Amino acid sequence: MKLQLRVLIVEDSEEDAELLIYELKRGDYHSIYDRVDTADGFIAALDKHHWDIVIADYSMPCFSAPAALSLLQEKKLDIPFIIVSGTIGEEMAVDAMKAGASDYVMKGNLARLIPAVERELREALQRRKRREAEQALREKEERFRSLIENALDIITVLSPDGNVYYISPSVHRVLGYESEELLEKNLFVYVHPEDVNEVINNLYQALNDPSSTLFIKFRFQHQDGSWRVLEAVCKKIIYSPEVASIVVNCRDITEHQQAEEIRRELEKQKELNENKFNFVSIMSHEFRNPLNIITISAELLEKYSDVASKEQKYLYFQRIRFAARNMTQLLEDILTISKAEVGKLKINPASLDLAKFCLELVEEMQFSNAGNAVNFVFKGGDVDEQQSQESEAGTITNCCSLAYMDEKLLRHIFINLLSNAIKYSPAGGEVLFELYYQNHEAIIQVKDQGIGIPANDQKRLFEVFHRAGNVGKIPGTGLGLSIVKKFVELHEGKIEVSSEVGVGSTFTVKLPLQTQRLTESRHTYSCGAN
Ligand code: ADP
Repeated sequence: MKLQLRVLIVEDSEEDAELLIYELKRGDYHSIYDRVDTADGFIAALDKHHWDIVIADYSMPCFSAPAALSLLQEKKLDIPFIIVSGTIGEEMAVDAMKAGASDYVMKGNLARLIPAVERELREALQRRKRREAEQALREKEERFRSLIENALDIITVLSPDGNVYYISPSVHRVLGYESEELLEKNLFVYVHPEDVNEVINNLYQALNDPSSTLFIKFRFQHQDGSWRVLEAVCKKIIYSPEVASIVVNCRDITEHQQAEEIRRELEKQKELNENKFNFVSIMSHEFRNPLNIITISAELLEKYSDVASKEQKYLYFQRIRFAARNMTQLLEDILTISKAEVGKLKINPASLDLAKFCLELVEEMQFSNAGNAVNFVFKGGDVDEQQSQESEAGTITNCCSLAYMDEKLLRHIFINLLSNAIKYSPAGGEVLFELYYQNHEAIIQVKDQGIGIPANDQKRLFEVFHRAGNVGKIPGTGLGLSIVKKFVELHEGKIEVSSEVGVGSTFTVKLPLQTQRLTESRHTYSCGAN
């Protein structure tokens, strides 16, 4: 198949031009051509069409190959230019080649024309492809530069030790600096001292693991001296293995962060208000019960005072007294919790023999619950000595027994736990009160074989007014354990629960025997829990 070739022939002889076309035809080229022999004709032909090749005679009456070549170059056209001449001497040929001609062929040796045309066309094609590739690359670079320079984020290229190789102009809008002013500077100088280490660690991490994309947050000093919070993504540049560099893309999130803080604060406030509302609602509910009992009993007494028997009247008075006592207790509990919430709960620690105190307390509980189905067991011992002693009313000797605690608060803690153990063991069983010591801590466990606590409720057990779902008709307010927790915390201790429904519950209280703060506060705290 013939190849189409657009040839511009610069030749004054029509015959010679036809000879060239004939020669090209022999080389399988179908030529579309124009012949010119003046400068004007040459320029007009160049302007009018695209040409694959120019073949020029060296000298003509009104024109010449060197003149045509320089016109072609003026127009910055990359078209192969072959001189075909009968007269060209070696010196002139060399000059023409130096001037930019692609090749020269003697008219007497036209067999060289086809190989010369083929080579020049091939090279011209390669040059065009290279130019197009370079142009595409330039356009791509231009696009990226425009993207980077107009981006809202700051894009930087850093060395692992913070040296700035590149920083996008957006740094001016975000942080007030001119990008040139930061070039070759160390960026860490502007990072908040508390955040520098984290930033350095992240850069090295990005360097060591090129596949990772790391996110960091740090404070950066604005040109006006204020601190801005930046969020950044770091990634190693893998196409420049000779220089270790990391691209860090930063965004100013100061306002976003502030808005987030305000939102969180508002949410907390809302939650607090809701909690307060819930607290007041539950409290009103808890008071309504005894108040109703008082109102109804008083009304009955008033209505039937003439006919009611002495025993009936006594029963109503007793109900009123009992309801009033409940309300007083409720009020006291709420007051204690409120005080604890605002940090006004005071502790009054003193030296005390803990083992003796516990034993007496258990004996007291045993005595006051004598008719109950529950059987109390007290175990006191010292883990370090690997001995423990069981007792019903026995004696305890213990070297660690001396503690520095608030007796009144301790009493409240243990009575509450023991009372719950009894209350939530309607079928009776054993209540074990165990005291031992470990690492300067007294560990007290109250273990019962009662109804147990569902797993879901265990997490919320120490929240005000929270009662487990399995309490049924067992009376209570859900305040006791939250007070116990506050008292334990005042001793810098901890309380935990483990329980299984239908098997029983174990409350573990850990109290430091002597705490620095309590010892120091000896003279500061003067009044008791209430
Ligand atoms: P109250 O007993 O007045 O309801 P508490 O604050 O003392 O309030 O206890 C909170 C909840 O914890 C109780 O309502 C009960 O559901 C659960 N609870 C506490 N102690 C025990 C226990 N020994 N056995 C089973 N459940 C318990």
